Amino acid sequence: MSIPLLDLKAQYLELKDELDSAVGDVMSSAGFIGGPRVRELETAIAEYCGTKHAVACGNGTDALFLILHALGIGKGDEVITTPFTFIATAEAIAHVGATPVFVDIEPDTYNVDVSQVEAAITEHTRAIMPVHIFGQCADMDPINEIAKRHGLRVIEDACQAIGATYEGKRAGSLADVAAFSFFPSKNLGCAGDGGIITTDDDEIAAACRKMANHGTTVKYYHDTIGVNSRLDALQAAILLVKLPHLNRWNAERRAATAVYDELLADTSLGLPVTREYGEHVYHLYIVRSPERDRIMDALKAAGVGTAAYYPVPLHRQEALGHLGYAEGSLPVAEAACPQTFALPAFPGITREQQDVVVAALLEAGV
Ligand SMILES: *Cc1c(COP(=O)(O)O)cnc(C)c1O
Repeated sequence: MSIPLLDLKAQYLELKDELDSAVGDVMSSAGFIGGPRVRELETAIAEYCGTKHAVACGNGTDALFLILHALGIGKGDEVITTPFTFIATAEAIAHVGATPVFVDIEPDTYNVDVSQVEAAITEHTRAIMPVHIFGQCADMDPINEIAKRHGLRVIEDACQAIGATYEGKRAGSLADVAAFSFFPSKNLGCAGDGGIITTDDDEIAAACRKMANHGTTVKYYHDTIGVNSRLDALQAAILLVKLPHLNRWNAERRAATAVYDELLADTSLGLPVTREYGEHVYHLYIVRSPERDRIMDALKAAGVGTAAYYPVPLHRQEALGHLGYAEGSLPVAEAACPQTFALPAFPGITREQQDVVVAALLEAGV
């Protein structure tokens, strides 16, 4: 039995009739950019996250870029973030001309280590951008408290965490503004690229919406140079079909991870750690071993999907070499990167499939 890391085909087949009909409706309407489906999705996501506004855009990376631009962050400014994330987090900061400043992570959750944030603040710092890594919220109360004390903005990179909670509130509503991605493999994915911004702030929402649509609010009149970053109607229609199933899928991810937690408890693998402050949505089930590469090879040979997250921390990426972070500068992230990898824990994975994954791990001597 071969088991993928993520089974997107099964998710499509589960909702095939509804999805095909939603796509067919958009095709017949011939309204492909913006329109009622996109507005409906914005309303639904704002309601889901508990924010006043949601602004759809082209992808999660653009969502971060649009937010930074809307906050007036640019050349000479610094944004504090984590090195243990996808490149997009730092890319967006670099694209507005600002400098990402990396703070090390917690060794167990892999989220930013809040106790180290304050020391990274300089006179150039404008914002803190925590990432809710692998579907668990960063510790937002102390982050917001530090930001308030220093007059900084807080931007959630919530791309992996739609549906996750912190102190009873959903990711996307935990700071000034948040970015989500609808990349197909995310917990709520479309059939291409897509993203959305959530905020309670009228000005941020309006500025993001304007920037995403060529810097215009009145068609063909432009008072700023914007970009083209819009969600198309087909993606919105697909997401509207999927959104009502998101909580169940996230619950299925949690159920699958509970099975692994139990079956792998007596192994030498480092298992995910969940904080008491909220509900994890397990975008990825990440385990840890000094023998990662050998174990991953064994899993692949047994037909089990796996991947390393993240093989290189951002501060050590060639593209960010000019920032000058030496080897050993962020030791916790650097120690995690060669050891962490994902196991299949997608919604709908069966106990039988999980048993195969566990058997392959035990065979590899974990
Ligand atoms: C996926 C992801 C992004 C970027 O989203 P795209 O839609 O692929 O542009 C940004 N940050 C994190 C943490 C992500 O996982």
